[in-house]
Amino acid sequence: MSKPARAAACAIAEAHLTGAEDADAANLHGAENPPGRPGYDTSGAGVNNIPLARLARLARGAGWSCPPRQWYMRRMRDETSLIIPAVRAVLDEALAAGRRTTDGGKAIDEHQVHAERLAYAATEAAAAEALATYARERAGDEVIGRMAAAFAGEVASRLGAEIEGHRDDFGVRGETLGRTLGAPEVLAAVRAVQHEARLRDIGREIIRTRGANNCFIDGEIAEMARDSARSFARREVAPIAERIHRHDELVPESIIRRMAELGYFGMSVPEEYGGQGLGNLVMIVITEELSAASLAAAGSLITRPEILTKALLKGGTEAQKRRWLPPVASGALMVGISVTEPDTGSDVASVRCRAERTERGWLISGAKAWCTFAGRADVLALLARTNPDPKAGARGLSLFVVPKDPFPGHEFEMRQPGGGVLHGKADATPGYRGMHSFTLGFENYLVPAENLIGEAAGEGKGFYLQMGGFAAGRLQTGGRASGLAQAALEATATYASERRQFGRPIGDFQLTQHKLGRMATHLAAARQLTYAAARAMDRDETVVLEPAMAKLFASDVAVRVTQEGQLLHGGWGYAEEFAISRHVVDALVLPIFEGVKPILELKVIARGLLGG
Ligand SMILES: Cc1cc2nc3c(=O)[nH]c(=O)nc-3n(C[C@H](O)[C@H](O)[C@H](O)COP(=O)(O)OP(=O)(O)OC[C@H]3O[C@@H](n4cnc5c(N)ncnc54)[C@H](O)[C@@H]3O)c2cc1C
Repeated sequence: MSKPARAAACAIAEAHLTGAEDADAANLHGAENPPGRPGYDTSGAGVNNIPLARLARLARGAGWSCPPRQWYMRRMRDETSLIIPAVRAVLDEALAAGRRTTDGGKAIDEHQVHAERLAYAATEAAAAEALATYARERAGDEVIGRMAAAFAGEVASRLGAEIEGHRDDFGVRGETLGRTLGAPEVLAAVRAVQHEARLRDIGREIIRTRGANNCFIDGEIAEMARDSARSFARREVAPIAERIHRHDELVPESIIRRMAELGYFGMSVPEEYGGQGLGNLVMIVITEELSAASLAAAGSLITRPEILTKALLKGGTEAQKRRWLPPVASGALMVGISVTEPDTGSDVASVRCRAERTERGWLISGAKAWCTFAGRADVLALLARTNPDPKAGARGLSLFVVPKDPFPGHEFEMRQPGGGVLHGKADATPGYRGMHSFTLGFENYLVPAENLIGEAAGEGKGFYLQMGGFAAGRLQTGGRASGLAQAALEATATYASERRQFGRPIGDFQLTQHKLGRMATHLAAARQLTYAAARAMDRDETVVLEPAMAKLFASDVAVRVTQEGQLLHGGWGYAEEFAISRHVVDALVLPIFEGVKPILELKVIARGLLGG
């Protein structure tokens, strides 16, 4: 990048970034900013919204590249680097044993309980590694170093206990354990890093900084995109989030319009099809900020275009990409994803909704369930059976782009001139409000022949295209979950510093500090695992394991962090005026969709780990 171009880029960045509002926070994280790097705004208050198209132009025009990684790299010789290799060595042996037991993943169903244990242990280990890598890169940041160590220790303890409890299943040799997790220096490190005083230290910092997310992101484009999204989310989404939730309203058009202007619907759409093509990491950091303001009325709005975009890019004809991607990217078309049926959820290959070929096009008949945003959506990505032979299973399914009229409200009916009907009724839910999730009934609903993704070549490929789309959706859910947990952490850290009991702020009590320290540590691990998955997907769009792990772990963290946060709010955590009560009910859905947790563990993660 030329000097003038870089200077211009930095000037734009500086014009939009006001520097840390909280002087203490700035001091704590000051070491994070390399020379010449703009300061980071924790409040979002002084930042203007930067449309992504402008960031993309900057990046392209200036030939912008990430600062040299070595700049941040320093050797980390500490407890973390003792513990992580021990965890990895034990896990590798356990996975090798698991491959033998399950015949290379073919017999997972005969060993489901152990396969789930392995999947979860491997996911936690991956999260510990991601956080340790980040800590190594941010060697000057003591808080991050302590978090990485504490989390590595926690994962090592849990793995050790699991192995002790199920020694035969794990198949890890005593000799291996003796030189790894059981080695005296590793055991000492595991105890030291989990000492409650260390977590209390982290908790105190979290209270002092009110939990602000100043996490360094390797890439100035991503950092500016985060600032811009934070500003938009805090100014325009957060003030209406509670109203939408409490009154079960539909996300207002004004929010959709602003998100469209900012380019949030086209983040994964390549430039040639009208998108920003900014990659998965940028998409994730923006998702985090939107989800922190409102999971359903902002963060989740971009899941649907992400899923359809990936399916079209993978399997669409050139004409289909040119027809559908530009309006999806511009936000002119809102999208719903329709896979689940009343009687068919996890077993996607058994989808029954029929698509029959006629001279006029395809006629869709059957029921669908849980189609989020189906009322407002202009198009549904619909998985339907084009081959009626049940033996065809997954190979009998095709994916369609189904146009429909948009409807506000909780129920709609659309009648086509030729007699086709689409009826939708939203199912009431305790959280995740803002888009409404519909049960749908199709009766001879006509869809043009050219709307089958891949056209003739796409017939029977719907299952695989949909699964590719879900991988992208899961990655995005890692970002949604991290953003939601971030909101809960900030709300709780603030509350803990303000709420007084027994004559002191509750944040002065050891247990509160310890709990906040653990919440922040788990969130940091979830975030880094998700970022690692985003980078993996930026390198190779076909990866499946990494986004699945990010979704699994980050969703659990969001559930835990929101619930801990609620308890720390006491009775007020149960009041609807306090955002934490909304965060709790919103988080509960994260481990359910895009592969309910047990299915994600067994059919995606365990299969990926044991099948290789
Ligand atoms: C708010 C919300 C929004 C949603 N949005 C959408 C959407 O936009 N589009 C869409 O298509 N879907 C959507 N879904 C549906 C969601 O993806 C499904 O609920 C999910 O895939 C699980 O399917 P199911 O509910 O039928 O559960 P089931 O498949 O019936 O599974 C229930 C439980 O059975 C057990 N189980 C099932 N199979 C096995 C097995 N082989 N081995 C071991 N245990 C097993 C597991 O414990 C599992 O948790 C949404 C759901 C919700 C709640």
